[in-house]
Amino acid sequence: MDLSDTPAEAGFRCGLRSWLAKAMAELGPPPDPADWPARRAYDTAWQRQLYEAGYAGVHWPAEAGGRGAGPVEHLILLEETERAGAPYVGANFVGLLHAGPTIVAEGTPEQRRRYLPPILRGEEIWCQGFSEPDAGSDLAALRTRAVRDGDHYVVTGSKIWTSHAEVADWCELLVRTDPEAPRHQGISWLILPMDASGVTVRPLRTLAGTTEFAELFLDEVRVPVSNRVGAENDGWRVTMVTLSFERGTAFAAEVVACRRTLGRLARLAETEGAWTDAVLRRRFGLLAGQFDALWRLVQWNVSEAAAAAARTGGDAVPGAGASVFKLRFSEARQELYDLAAEVLGSGSLLLGAVGEEEDWTGQRLQGLSYTIAAGTSQIQRSIVAQRILGLPKPRSATRGS
Ligand SMILES: Cc1cc2nc3c(=O)[nH]c(=O)nc-3n(C[C@H](O)[C@H](O)[C@H](O)COP(=O)(O)OP(=O)(O)OC[C@H]3O[C@@H](n4cnc5c(N)ncnc54)[C@H](O)[C@@H]3O)c2cc1C
Repeated sequence: MDLSDTPAEAGFRCGLRSWLAKAMAELGPPPDPADWPARRAYDTAWQRQLYEAGYAGVHWPAEAGGRGAGPVEHLILLEETERAGAPYVGANFVGLLHAGPTIVAEGTPEQRRRYLPPILRGEEIWCQGFSEPDAGSDLAALRTRAVRDGDHYVVTGSKIWTSHAEVADWCELLVRTDPEAPRHQGISWLILPMDASGVTVRPLRTLAGTTEFAELFLDEVRVPVSNRVGAENDGWRVTMVTLSFERGTAFAAEVVACRRTLGRLARLAETEGAWTDAVLRRRFGLLAGQFDALWRLVQWNVSEAAAAAARTGGDAVPGAGASVFKLRFSEARQELYDLAAEVLGSGSLLLGAVGEEEDWTGQRLQGLSYTIAAGTSQIQRSIVAQRILGLPKPRSATRGS
């Protein structure tokens, strides 16, 4: 596989780089992470700028408001925006990185026309209502019920750990539409309007002091049947599509961010005097190698998905390699911030104490969630064991969101 840019890709990269340099020079400072309305306004304004410059949804079809380019341009966009230190997708995470791609792959033409362009224009924010109090890793144990009433479903139940629910307009929601069917066969994937009557959001405070996620209570909420993605009771298959985007590509830009952070940390290690330690330098080398390998793994996952789509005429959906990426990336990111705490010592506790405004401790605490969110490491290991290595399934095998 030749991983160097073709002349057309190099031209795309070059144009993007100069656009980013200008846009970044005019960008204001990021808002307080505890201020959700300000975060939403900041993230969506940046998304709008990307859209107006033709850089939103570069690999989404033109009918969805995208640029209709290929997966390589998408990876170049992720790489260059992170390299420039541009704002991350933030509040738009679910819509841009896994609900949107699921609708591209599984939605009807009407759903694509209705839901995708506002995501790209930064007008509408999505959240994910998969997990429930007794259905996290064992996601198929979900109990939120949807009962058909004419051309609506009446939905009752509750969800937990719903990231960005406080500012979301829509929720990708899993519901049980057939309680009699085997548990993986009675589920449907719905688009829930967050302003519908009967929806209550109760924010949950994290150890970092912000409300990243919330509990979601649904009391006889009426959702049009036309908001169902995929066939009734075929929601588990659609969910696997969502999860493979969430695990395979949604964290890709963060690999580039980690490589950048590792470089900054190496420079700080030199000024702080820690660089003389050969054992520590080896750990830097090992992590640098891991982030490079992870970026190559993203490229491989995306090109495999594109090749499979070309063969079958379907859409490009990452395969089980997504779990290898999610598993290794979430652990490598934790190792990076553990290393930072060792190198910087007490200097990592105070904003600005070691020359830059990086919140080393906040990032380290936040990193703890990476081996849980989008399915725990244990669940990813089970998927790798069964679907890649072909090992037998344990009798109580389950899968997570
Ligand atoms: C920051 C963050 C954001 C999140 N955002 C969202 C969101 O937006 N929407 C959403 O729906 N969910 C979200 N989640 C929830 C997340 O998907 C679940 O936390 C995750 O799937 C684990 O489920 P659980 O918390 O119920 O843990 P449990 O399923 O109770 O697991 C507890 C422990 O047991 C282990 N375990 C369980 N079953 C097995 C098994 N069969 N084999 C081996 N080990 C097993 C798990 O690996 C884990 O270590 C988020 C979580 C976090 C941390």
